[in-house]
Amino acid sequence: MLQQVDDQGSGSDDQSRASFREDLQEFLGREAPLHQLDDLTKVNPVTLETVLRCLQARYMVDTFYTNAGCTLVALNPFKPVRQLYTPELMREYHTAPQPQRLKPHIFTLAEQTYRNVKSLIEPVNQSIVVSGESGAGKTWTSRCLMKFYAVVAAAPTSWESPRIAERIEQRILNSNPVMEAFGNACTLRNNNSSRFGKFIQLQLNRAQQMTGAEVQTYLLEKTRVACQASSERNFHIFYQICKGASEDERLQWHLPKGATFSWLPNPERTLEEDCFEVTREAMLHLGIDTLTQNNIFKVLAGLLHLGNVHFADSEDEAQPCQLMHDAKCSLRTSASLLRLREDMLLETVQIRTIRAGRQQQVFQKPCSRAECDTRRDCLAKVVYARLFDWLVSVINSSICADPDSWTAFIGLLDVYGFESFPDNSLEQLCINYANEKLQQHFVVHYLRAQQEEYTLEGLEWSFVNYQDNQTCLDLIEGSPISVCSLLNEECRLNRPSSAAQLQTRIESALATSPCLGHNKLSQEPSFIVVHYAGPVRYLTAGLVEKNKDPVPPELIELLQQSQDPLLTVLFPPQPKEKTQEEPSGQSRAPALTVVSKFKASLEQLLLVLHSTTPHYIRCIKPNSQGQPQTFLQEEVLSQLEACGLVETIHISAAGFPIRVSHQNFVERYSLLRRLRSHTPSGRHSLCAARGRAGQLLCPEEATLQTVLQDLLHALPALTRRAVTPA
Ligand code: ADP
Ligand code: MG
Repeated sequence: MLQQVDDQGSGSDDQSRASFREDLQEFLGREAPLHQLDDLTKVNPVTLETVLRCLQARYMVDTFYTNAGCTLVALNPFKPVRQLYTPELMREYHTAPQPQRLKPHIFTLAEQTYRNVKSLIEPVNQSIVVSGESGAGKTWTSRCLMKFYAVVAAAPTSWESPRIAERIEQRILNSNPVMEAFGNACTLRNNNSSRFGKFIQLQLNRAQQMTGAEVQTYLLEKTRVACQASSERNFHIFYQICKGASEDERLQWHLPKGATFSWLPNPERTLEEDCFEVTREAMLHLGIDTLTQNNIFKVLAGLLHLGNVHFADSEDEAQPCQLMHDAKCSLRTSASLLRLREDMLLETVQIRTIRAGRQQQVFQKPCSRAECDTRRDCLAKVVYARLFDWLVSVINSSICADPDSWTAFIGLLDVYGFESFPDNSLEQLCINYANEKLQQHFVVHYLRAQQEEYTLEGLEWSFVNYQDNQTCLDLIEGSPISVCSLLNEECRLNRPSSAAQLQTRIESALATSPCLGHNKLSQEPSFIVVHYAGPVRYLTAGLVEKNKDPVPPELIELLQQSQDPLLTVLFPPQPKEKTQEEPSGQSRAPALTVVSKFKASLEQLLLVLHSTTPHYIRCIKPNSQGQPQTFLQEEVLSQLEACGLVETIHISAAGFPIRVSHQNFVERYSLLRRLRSHTPSGRHSLCAARGRAGQLLCPEEATLQTVLQDLLHALPALTRRAVTPA
């Protein structure tokens, strides 16, 4: 049939080729401008450079969303783009016959996710994993997704409801300002940085209406309560109570105007997030009444005053450290706000109780000044952490639907992205471990989806040779020996060991792992894990202690004696027999370590994610200064690496990196149009080109094969094009 074309066209092979090249020039001239390419898998060829150029071109014309196969890339505009998130636009995406034909948007993904639940007879749970580095826009995106579902999945009765706040969708949205007030803080990288991970399940009934939601949180950065890096701040709520309290409340909470608190750095920075009224209003709608709210804020004020309790070095080791001269008043105020006995509060912070020997004899030992500080901080951390967990449970009881009133859920995951600082510790290890797990989940899903698609197309391809990140996960969490197991063992053995000893133990026990990097240059004891997103150096100093996260039992016992109604709920008194049976000290069962708790919650999360159809949004920060219209290629590149997009590109390149429907292909490359009439039965049947020139995988398309060979020869960039039916 090709012969026919040649015959009809020019009569000679050379002439035919010449006219073919002219046509080729024409279609090259008509390549869509980069900013119009709405899928990164359509850039040609798929390389990091072209992907970057495409994202940049789009960013500069205010196009912030781009597809990347099954992932959506979201660039942070760093400016308000109101027309992008209106309810009208939500409805447009919701009602579109084919939302994927509209411009890429989180609403496209949200709508497809929503339809996935609906379209199946048996409802299938869905999840949307939103990732990216701090300040990239994860929380913003999750909030927008929640607003989208609050509009499109609202129960009809709720529209009739006279009070908007009574609607379940509104209550679910109200959980955001509350959780952000208590769990977010201003950091160097984001004024409203979430200091916890969050997974929210939006529950839908058979009619696809949102009937409730349930929140699960991960790893709240509780150290922030008592320790903030310079130029950073404590959790927003502390600033909100100090700035927003009424005169009367100021008196009650002992927060006079102009009071200064050690744990309240940079109070002069006023942020949008400092709006106390919004938090209070939202709490009210979640069923947290004014009385309970006042109790919460009073406890928080008590913690602020506790932070002003400073100690002086003791001259005599046998004597407790004395309070600094102005700390006495802070101690008294703190004790009164927390409804503790002032002398007991002081004594518990100053003096350690040691139980030793078979008889569990009790000894008391005055603490050094540094130890007093640690115990004071520990007290604040344990109160804040329990308060946060309690708030989450209250929110859940307010928004969670009856188990029989929902049949499927859409889960939104907003977690910290991959982190690599000059010095990394247990927090980064946990975060990067979570990211490894999520990356593995993504790759498995992505490879499976690719494989299924190829099978559907009748293409033979296998990704069996693809190396996933299992070896790195084995290094971190594997059994019997891994970084986690070694850290846990150190906690269990409770032996004194230096940072250098820990490094040696890790490096010798795990020497065979290909993901343990060579740690030659480092001055400080550390080890290197080669993550999928790059190598990260973890310092070993303090790692075991952080993993233990010890809370002296005396502190808990003290808090159990508080007369405050809220603290009584947070620290319920232990049953009598139990306290006798379980005295503190070595006989007590070892408490769960931070990594074991984290591992367990991560496994639970992965179990849930695996039972859903996942969707991915990768948020990207175009520059670290938060400037609009500024796209820094280097910074974006490192994020593309960290979020695994580069890896996705590599996987893509290993298969068929480009897919164009036959129809689109013919329309776009008009020189092929004349061939259409010569293809068997004129239908746009399947044909596909493999990564190497001239391999066409559908032999029945012999006519196209020869022309494509020519085309492939003339245009190397096209050698990795796959053509699939519409
Ligand atoms: P992350 O949760 O990833 O740390 P955030 O979602 O808090 O980051 O986003 C950081 C800031 O970036 C927001 O406070 C907001 O100012 C800005 N931002 C993020 N996404 C958008 C968006 N789509 N439109 C406008 N501003 C945005
Ligand atoms: Mg966030």
